Amino acid sequence: MSTFQELGLNEDLLKAITDLGFEKPSEVQQKAIPLLLEEEKDLVALAQTGTGKTAAFGFPMLQKIDIDSRTTQGLILSPTRELCLQITNELKLYGKYCKGLNVTAIYGGASISDQARQVKRGAQIIVATPGRMKDMISRNMVDISKIQYSVLDEADEMLNMGFYEDITDILSHTPEDKSTWLFSATMPKEVSNIAKKFMFDPTEITVGNKNESTSNVSHEYYLVNARDRYQALKRLADANPDIFSVIFCRTKRDTQKVAENLIEDGYSAGALHGDLSQNQRDLVMKSFRNKQIQMLVATDVAARGIDVDDITHVINYQLPDEIETYTHRSGRTGRAGKTGVSMVIVSKSEVRKIKSIERIIKKQFDKKEIPSSENIVEVQLMSLANKIHTTETNHEIDKHLENINELFADTEKEELIKKFFSVEFNRFFNYYQKSKDLSVVDSRGSDRDGGRDYGKQSNDSRYFINVGKKDGFDWMKLKDFLKEQLELGRDDVFKVDVKESFSFFNTEKTLQEKVLAFFTDFKHEGRFVNVEVSEDKGRSRGGRSGGRNRGGNDRRSGGRNRSSDRRSSGGSGNRSDRRSRRSDDSRSDRKFNDSRGDRRSESSGSGSDRPRRSRRRD
Ligand code: ADP
Ligand code: MG
Repeated sequence: MSTFQELGLNEDLLKAITDLGFEKPSEVQQKAIPLLLEEEKDLVALAQTGTGKTAAFGFPMLQKIDIDSRTTQGLILSPTRELCLQITNELKLYGKYCKGLNVTAIYGGASISDQARQVKRGAQIIVATPGRMKDMISRNMVDISKIQYSVLDEADEMLNMGFYEDITDILSHTPEDKSTWLFSATMPKEVSNIAKKFMFDPTEITVGNKNESTSNVSHEYYLVNARDRYQALKRLADANPDIFSVIFCRTKRDTQKVAENLIEDGYSAGALHGDLSQNQRDLVMKSFRNKQIQMLVATDVAARGIDVDDITHVINYQLPDEIETYTHRSGRTGRAGKTGVSMVIVSKSEVRKIKSIERIIKKQFDKKEIPSSENIVEVQLMSLANKIHTTETNHEIDKHLENINELFADTEKEELIKKFFSVEFNRFFNYYQKSKDLSVVDSRGSDRDGGRDYGKQSNDSRYFINVGKKDGFDWMKLKDFLKEQLELGRDDVFKVDVKESFSFFNTEKTLQEKVLAFFTDFKHEGRFVNVEVSEDKGRSRGGRSGGRNRGGNDRRSGGRNRSSDRRSSGGSGNRSDRRSRRSDDSRSDRKFNDSRGDRRSESSGSGSDRPRRSRRRD
């Protein structure tokens, strides 16, 4: 069945669906809606986040309840206040043409008497968090003795959060003959137990594999010494200048501390956890949605309600206690058809957990190295260069130029460029020059290389090219583009790493002349494409920069300007003089010859045209 009409929904609902712009039902909707409309049956539905579960139970419920009655007929339990509000809003949209419909949200942190009043006005559907619901039942503020449909949404999470007793208690106030619909992303034992206990012969539907994580999320782990965890986090952020991420910690205390450290170090970060007031949490979420906060540090519980679509990275600062929770965490990214990366920072003692998670998510992790200093320096420098290159000239500046020109009358262009970059860059460079490498050797790492010797890459040339995501490229498209233009073979272009407005790729050294010759005066869609060699200077195998000032002060702060004024790259890409740049050759993006490896290393870089300014704090 491929249309909403065919699922058997009534006109009022179909009209709302048209307004919402939903073109066709999602898989879980296709499976659940006809079933729930036709039969009074219990249901267990397993589907990942973002698959449209709200509509899967919402539409049938809206169609089946009697809107002319003021009795509460449907009860939806959901783990957090945010989700509760989200569901309520969605249901109101779905039911906008159902005249007389009253959906009420019940959750903690807001006036209980206001909520009771709303219920009294005749709420046919209540959407509630278990804690507040139980509270209202005990105060006789709601009557759920006549409900016909109960939904346990995000059941795994509710149980995870310790709501088992509350749920049991609430359900004991509902009629025996109601239907119960349970929705969950994963199926741990606790969920099947609750299904057994409260449901009668439920129909089970599964979308995708049980417990499987979203397919457009790639998974990476970074092995570090436990004491380097925080430095590692900063590097992951620095190597991805456009990062927009949720960082998960295990405890409220760690969450608060990591967020505070990040803020102190100049990152745009915020904390989200249960010790904050509702008001504080709302503010943080608002800033995050507006992208004023780039790194949201959160506990699992607090982050449960986050439905922000364009999160580029989920970073597991610490692994969750329950490894099932990992699926929820990584599901925060890769939403709405976008790709995302879930990164895990692990210490040696926890690395075995990666295997267990792989079994649960049915996907392999890529072992990656924390970006080396050189790598970060290069990414940041090119990010800055590219920003300058594409900045439109502001001619208001002209009238002040006389004195400036005089000052630089004797400075050569090349010298001037160097000086100019140094202003922004020195502090950053100095910081990273002092910092040691963070990766540690993983004993299980070797078997993942498939026997390939990734160390021998001296026959490669690495290039910088001034096109990126905003020119419509992803790693695959860029690879195809290069292969096509240069008439190269399937494996001739590798290690393609596409950032926002520029990219890197490798070829065999023997192809270097051909590549550079081709891109002299080459125009793509009306603009010059500039390719430069990223010189292989002082590479250290495995990305280790061993002899560096170990224990150097690893503090850096970058007051960053993350306003989202993203300029389109309008500038012409005239070949600039070929500077040699360092390229990091850490094993971090190995697997260069296979496309899976490429994809992963590609998606790890959400590039940027915005460097961050660093204010060193000494
Ligand atoms: P889940 O509960 O499975 O995580 P949601 O019900 O919150 O997912 O839905 C995720 C998003 O997808 C919501 O913004 C919702 O409006 C949208 N959505 C749901 N069904 C469809 C559909 N059939 N077509 C397009 N968008 C949909
Ligand atoms: Mg949902």
